[in-house]
Amino acid sequence: MLEVGQEKMLDWEQQNKGKTCLRCGKSGLTWDKEFHTKTGKWKLENHKRDDGKWCNKPPEIMMVRTIDECQLCPLCVGSFGLIKSKNPKDLELHMANIHPNGEIKTDLDFRMEMGMHPLFLKYWSNDIHFFKYSHMIE
Ligand SMILES: [Zn+2]
Ligand SMILES: [Zn+2]
Repeated sequence: MLEVGQEKMLDWEQQNKGKTCLRCGKSGLTWDKEFHTKTGKWKLENHKRDDGKWCNKPPEIMMVRTIDECQLCPLCVGSFGLIKSKNPKDLELHMANIHPNGEIKTDLDFRMEMGMHPLFLKYWSNDIHFFKYSHMIE
């Protein structure tokens, strides 16, 4: 029987073993933990494919951008509300496109709009908008 603390530790080790790139299949890659904490998204280390070309080297503009150069949408709950500029016009545009009626959107809303299969809904039961879709799995 593992104690809770140990379990957590194993989890952590598992997560840190290295990631596999879905694009070229290279495994054992490290990832940017700070980026993940800030944005909730994964960013793998830059790596080269077998043919010597960069697989995922981000364009310069991505590399210099920090969280201080972004703004967060007040109506998005989760990781989709990050607007990658400080320009108020970009936020306005986002508001008009995504929240025309001032509605709050969560990650689940975005995923359902992208066509997530209802089967995956059960993993989203802690999303605040779960109730909107829960009838699909009942
Ligand atoms: Zn790759
Ligand atoms: Zn938004």
